[in-house]
Amino acid sequence: MIKKLLILTLLLVGCTPKKDNIVTFIKEKNNCVISINYPQTTIKTLNKQIKKDIKKTYKNFKMNYCKESNNKNELNIDFKYEIINNNYINILIKTNINKRKETKTYLYNIKDNKYMNVYDVFTENDLDILSSRLKQDIKNIKFTFDDKYLYIHNNQDIKYDIELFDLKIDIKKETLEEEKYTYKETTKIIDPNSKVLALTFDDGPSKYTKQIVDLLKEYDYNATFFILGNKVEIYKDTLKYLLDNGNEIGNHSYNHKWLTHITNNELETQINETQKIIKDTLNYTPTIFRPTYGSVNKYMKENIKLDIILWNIDTLDWKYKNSNKIANNTLNKVKDTNIILMHDTYEYTYNALKIILPKLKKQGYQLVTITELKNILYLRNENK
Ligand code: ZN
Repeated sequence: MIKKLLILTLLLVGCTPKKDNIVTFIKEKNNCVISINYPQTTIKTLNKQIKKDIKKTYKNFKMNYCKESNNKNELNIDFKYEIINNNYINILIKTNINKRKETKTYLYNIKDNKYMNVYDVFTENDLDILSSRLKQDIKNIKFTFDDKYLYIHNNQDIKYDIELFDLKIDIKKETLEEEKYTYKETTKIIDPNSKVLALTFDDGPSKYTKQIVDLLKEYDYNATFFILGNKVEIYKDTLKYLLDNGNEIGNHSYNHKWLTHITNNELETQINETQKIIKDTLNYTPTIFRPTYGSVNKYMKENIKLDIILWNIDTLDWKYKNSNKIANNTLNKVKDTNIILMHDTYEYTYNALKIILPKLKKQGYQLVTITELKNILYLRNENK
């Protein structure tokens, strides 16, 4: 009986959808920059389908754009992910290949174990309302046509207020007042005259970030995490934990677009939206910014109010994929005041840190945040 209960509980726990598994894959090859972020759910068939679709896009992109091309090409895959009432999964996958946009949606009913279509969500009456709304909006739709097809070019997503509809599915949510979060100030003793390093992590957070924070904690170390705006909501608990333990958050754009290849307006949006969601979610305002793919231009330098932070040591963790190799590459290069680039989106990076941190401790290094490093450099300059 107990066994049965246990199995039942495990099954139930296994079914509770969690949102904290975002797969990140960011890479530069030949003339291609690639940034892929997509969620993995608790539903295996759904995961498989998303993975399969993304793999196909990635393969096609590599084949068509990454071979000896002189032009630079960008693949950016981003997502929107909602779970409603622990039952309905909504996933939107947005793919940009250079300026071309594609979208795909996955709607899944967990209880019934099936994909959902428009008839599963809307009642007949809803569909009438929806079509009359569509009629109103149709005048704003951008379209072209030829003798075979009508092409709709939707730059903007159209939103319809859900209150209009009497849906077949139940999406009523209990709203819980969340307590306002303020991060804990930590007191630290840093000796400005002994050796320092600033460890920085890009592209996260991920499911490995908390482990990394815990590992840093063991050595009384802190680091800086340059995060993506689109992951803030999903990983807000991880981010609170990170801040409460004395680490720093920096801005690394909203969804890892190649910032020197978009309009200045889009660039501002990438940065401002990320600032806003960090402020709204964590009550924290980053003061530093790391450009994607390390590319900086004149507009960025002159107009971005955040401090642009690059690095001295690239651990190449994403390329080596091997913790010993990453650790050796890093340990062979470190010097006082260096800024080290890593990614908290890979397990091998976490394992490399298990090798790196005790060695740095033995060598007498203090690991500090970027803001702390800036203060140390200022103090040292003053004392000269
Ligand atoms: Zn990055």
